[in-house]
Amino acid sequence: MEPDQVKIVLIGEARVGKSSIISRYISNTFQEFGTPTLGCAYHTRQLNINDKILKLNIWDTAGQERYHSLSKSYSRDSKIIILVYDITSYESFKAMKRWHEILQKEIVLPTTILGVFGNKADLIQSEEVPIIEAQKFANVINASFRKTSAKENAGIEEGLIELCKRYLKI
Ligand code: GDP
Ligand code: MG
Repeated sequence: MEPDQVKIVLIGEARVGKSSIISRYISNTFQEFGTPTLGCAYHTRQLNINDKILKLNIWDTAGQERYHSLSKSYSRDSKIIILVYDITSYESFKAMKRWHEILQKEIVLPTTILGVFGNKADLIQSEEVPIIEAQKFANVINASFRKTSAKENAGIEEGLIELCKRYLKI
């Protein structure tokens, strides 16, 4: 049986940890300093859920977060969109909400599964975004909410599995 191809994109401000989340999920690596150079447009990993085989094609933003616009080719056909903020930056949370507004204008959201990842959960002592507020926003936009840490490898795998289950309607 051919695996089901699932395009997943990560969206959020620069420095929130999008590339780090992908590196952790794809190659179980983390770099403390500097942006990991991922090199290609997307990375793939196979995920088996029950009797289903999914080929996850996970897209990283190639610096386009600076322009506050998304190319249509980037969001086109995405089955799952993960909005990422940094729990230590309220600015990044507000920016994430703006990204959601841009998405609503540019793509057909009703068919897309949404996730919200509050990354850098290991920096809990510097948390700036009230968890209640983040959860509330996720509820309003019908997104699955997770706190994640690319550094400590927390929440990422679970978050992706949850989103894929929603995609498969299981
Ligand atoms: P991107 O611009 O959204 O792709 O963000 P990067 O993945 O380049 O990460 C930006 C910075 O945050 C880098 O210095 C990473 O090492 C750091 N970073 C990413 N994820 C985490 C995390 O979960 N915890 C901590 N403490 N730092 C992180
Ligand atoms: Mg990056």
